[in-house]
Amino acid sequence: MVTKAEIEKKEEKIVIAELIEDLEDLKRYLQDILNFIPLPLAYLNPRGIILEANVSFGKLFSTFPENLIGKRIEKVFKGALPHNFSEKVINRRFLEIEISFSPKGKEKKFYKVLANTRRTPEGEIIGYYFLLVEITELIRLQRALKEEVELKTKELQLKLKELSDSRKALLNILADVEEERKKAEEERTKVEIIIDSLADGLIFFSFSSMKVEVFNTQAEKIFKIKRDEILGKEIEKIEKDPILKEILKKLSEGIEVEKEEIKFDEDKIFELSIIKVGRGEKVIGFSAILHDVSREKFIEKLKSEFVSIAAHQLRTPLSAIKWTLKMLLDQELGKLNRDQLDLLEKSYQANERMISLINDLLNVARIEEGRYVYNLKKEDIVELIKEIALEFEDKAKMKDIKFGVILPEKPLPLVSVDREKIKLAISNLVDNAIKYTLPGGVVTLSVSRYNKKEVLIIVQDTGVGIPKDQQERVFTRFFRGANVLRMETSGTGLGLYITKNIIEAHGGKIWFESEEGKGSKFFVKLPISGP
Ligand code: ADP
Repeated sequence: MVTKAEIEKKEEKIVIAELIEDLEDLKRYLQDILNFIPLPLAYLNPRGIILEANVSFGKLFSTFPENLIGKRIEKVFKGALPHNFSEKVINRRFLEIEISFSPKGKEKKFYKVLANTRRTPEGEIIGYYFLLVEITELIRLQRALKEEVELKTKELQLKLKELSDSRKALLNILADVEEERKKAEEERTKVEIIIDSLADGLIFFSFSSMKVEVFNTQAEKIFKIKRDEILGKEIEKIEKDPILKEILKKLSEGIEVEKEEIKFDEDKIFELSIIKVGRGEKVIGFSAILHDVSREKFIEKLKSEFVSIAAHQLRTPLSAIKWTLKMLLDQELGKLNRDQLDLLEKSYQANERMISLINDLLNVARIEEGRYVYNLKKEDIVELIKEIALEFEDKAKMKDIKFGVILPEKPLPLVSVDREKIKLAISNLVDNAIKYTLPGGVVTLSVSRYNKKEVLIIVQDTGVGIPKDQQERVFTRFFRGANVLRMETSGTGLGLYITKNIIEAHGGKIWFESEEGKGSKFFVKLPISGP
């Protein structure tokens, strides 16, 4: 018979067997979960001996997890873990480190190791969990990022250096520019001082600002005006002085002036020149220069007054001599022999030349003193030309020069001239043509209509001509060509000066063409209705 105690024991055994079976189930269940986790996971005792490991853990070493159980974790990882790894885990209870490790036959990978201790409810450490998380990609990214950052930092540093170099270079340039500016400033001041201490008045009108930019001290004195009233002002608004106004107008219009006389009063005379200012094609403005010629003019006046008085004084006795000689030559005071007549003729000619010189000197003095008065009337210019031609006919014939006159086919209108003065002017030209043409040569005097408003007189010869290099001085006082001086012809060098003055006083123009050894051609253009 089975006792109650036996039955109870049997039942207890059954319960225990069932419990064991349940535990086994749980263990399998846990094992399954463990293996299902894709991260390598292990459970170790406090000394680092592997007690449990999942499939992923085993795969790391290309083996089954059971083959790793009982082995020391530090050994299994062959130096990838610090040698006292387990000790550290136990001490710190939780540890997180990064390691690199080459799983068997595979390339090196990076892992994060997480280790956490397991404790009894009383707090005693009985082991620890060991989990690996692969972070190779993260590390790679981190490294790439770091490299990228380093590269960018380097580039930035390089850029910064470049910038700082450029800054330095710029600062250097700025310093140079400043130095140049200072130098230019000094130069400017120097130039300003020079301009200001000039003895001539100087006014500069700039085309860029369309205003007066220089008005020196001498100009202030001449116009009795302070530069502040001129500089930077609209020139139309400068009313002050009519002469200054006229000069400013010419400056702004860019009208060049060559030595024009400006009379402020009897003993304050200036010579005005207006010149272009610029380099090559580029004109930046115009400058007016006022040169004080009062003293020169005063001396000139004294000189011409002296000439005038001396000539007047000489003229009377020379006229007396002329008439005496004429009477002797005409044998009104008794018969003379051939030699006596020859001598007297020579004296008469010399006296004539003297009278002509005196007349020239007197005319020049009058012109220069402004006393040459013109008495304009409507005259028949063709008649006048014929008259001149008649007077020179004998002279030309005596020198064996063919003298011709060309007159217009149609009648010319009357021309407003001072008959005597125009006659003198044209006679001077014909006289020169005959004087400076060798025997056998030809001289022609012609008059024609130039255009509606002007007539043209031409005196042409086949004479010695005027040397090219002396041509520009032909109309100046006392000029005599080197070639005619060699010929020992008589002359004063005043004729053309007087002629030019007369023609210009009529509002006309005189010019010439000449070639040495071939001849000369003088042109005179006269306005029909006078100046
Ligand atoms: P002058 O004839 O009294 O010397 P002018 O003033 O009339 O003075 O002439 C000045 C100079 O110009 C002359 O000395 C001469 O050298 C030159 N000249 C003028 N006309 C002629 C001409 N027709 N042919 C050559 N030379 C001339």
